[in-house]
Amino acid sequence: MDISNELTIALAKPEHLSVHYQPIYCVKNSEIHSFESLVRWNHQTHGYISPDLFIPQSEKDGSIYALSLFVLHETCEMLKHHSDIKASINISPSLFKTDGFFSDFINTLKSYAIPTSRIEVEITENLTIEHLKYGKHHLDHFKNIGITVSMDDFGDGLANFVQLLNYPFDKIKVDKQLVQDVSRNSCKYSILKHLIKLSHDMGMQVTAEGVETIEDFKTLVGFKCDYIQGFLISKALPKKQFFDFLTHFSTR
Ligand code: C2E
Ligand code: CA
Ligand code: CA
Ligand code: CA
Repeated sequence: MDISNELTIALAKPEHLSVHYQPIYCVKNSEIHSFESLVRWNHQTHGYISPDLFIPQSEKDGSIYALSLFVLHETCEMLKHHSDIKASINISPSLFKTDGFFSDFINTLKSYAIPTSRIEVEITENLTIEHLKYGKHHLDHFKNIGITVSMDDFGDGLANFVQLLNYPFDKIKVDKQLVQDVSRNSCKYSILKHLIKLSHDMGMQVTAEGVETIEDFKTLVGFKCDYIQGFLISKALPKKQFFDFLTHFSTR
């Protein structure tokens, strides 16, 4: 199958594309603080296609622009109907090359009257020093208007630490590779314990993703990790199920 071609068709009439929402738990307040918007593609003949497969292709052929705006629109619809929750959106660094993405992004928020304080952007993987060179002013724009800027997939690449010297991120999201089994793996235990401390010292908050067990959850809470995301709390859910989840969570 020609992914590029099929994705262009899907985007023109996005009935086979949707967005699922994964809850993010705030340790301090013991409540669901936000959700991460994750795109889903259910192809009419090939069925479910993983974003890990089509996002890289979409970055190459440029359709990531339209795809990201689609995700943003769906996210704004969600935010409009639930006044006290925030949203995290994945932003591919390749979008920084395209003129106009930032203004399209802001204008979309304006058209739904969503305050920027309710938006976090996660700068997705493979963020290179090169990206930061031409992307820095985009990130500054986001920060200057009150959007939280996070570095996604921290721990998934060697250059991550160097990037912290190159950009003042508000938050880091620790990759599931580093998070999973933290309670039993003594290396991960030491790294995360000190990484969270270091992040706090540098004025950054920390989200741990991929938390699947209560043992890992407790270890991270002990390390004063700020936010926790993973199958232990919930997988990403379609809109209606997400709202049901929120209702049950707040009354339990
Ligand atoms: P990511 O941004 O690192 O997203 C986290 C991935 O981990 C998601 O996979 C999520 O479903 C999965 N996950 C969450 N909790 C757990 C857990 O406890 N255990 C395990 N094993 N996995 C967990 P997903 O939805 O398949 O997305 C994969 C990647 O595709 C994302 O990684 C992100 O890089 C990209 N992606 C998804 N949606 C978008 C989008 O709208 N825009 C862009 N640019 N990238 C996107
Ligand atoms: Ca992410
Ligand atoms: Ca991630
Ligand atoms: Ca990832």
